[in-house]
Amino acid sequence: MSLEEYAAKRNFDKTNEPAAEKSKNNKKQLLFVIHKHYASRLHFDLRLELDGVLKSWAVPKGPTVNPKEKKLAVMVEDHPLEYGDFEGVIPDGNYGAGQVYIWDRGTYHAYDTDDYDKSQEIFREGFNKGHLTFILEGNILKGEFALVRLKKASPKDWLFIKKNDEFASDADISIIKAQNEL
Ligand code: MN
Repeated sequence: MSLEEYAAKRNFDKTNEPAAEKSKNNKKQLLFVIHKHYASRLHFDLRLELDGVLKSWAVPKGPTVNPKEKKLAVMVEDHPLEYGDFEGVIPDGNYGAGQVYIWDRGTYHAYDTDDYDKSQEIFREGFNKGHLTFILEGNILKGEFALVRLKKASPKDWLFIKKNDEFASDADISIIKAQNEL
């Protein structure tokens, strides 16, 4: 896990985004966050803590709680853990320029265990296999989800899928506004 690509894309004299520093999460619960990002195109960014960084995917059409819909999630560079608290405007002319809101945030863990270390072990294996299943405990997203890599396409293309459980529904959650969104 490296934040080199994150750093290379940004000028920290010009953006208020967090510095490219790894940090430790002392809460022993894995962080997840979804940003709503009004960049040149509105998209959502799914971020899951692993090994001191936030693994990140841009989800152009936003997350869904409908198991019949599968949402393209394009893997992007790792972000620092502090990005989980970031909300604000990335100034014009900078990478990702536009307003960023925290749309949902909470903890997540592996399907079989809520142990911090064991979950990360499972996720490392899942990354190699291109298949992760996990439980999100957010305000909007709850229950079981999966990320599945599309092997035949670009290795950065994954699908973000809601699994069928008590939290699944056909409600359109993409219309929910972020807490601080006007
Ligand atoms: Mn983004």
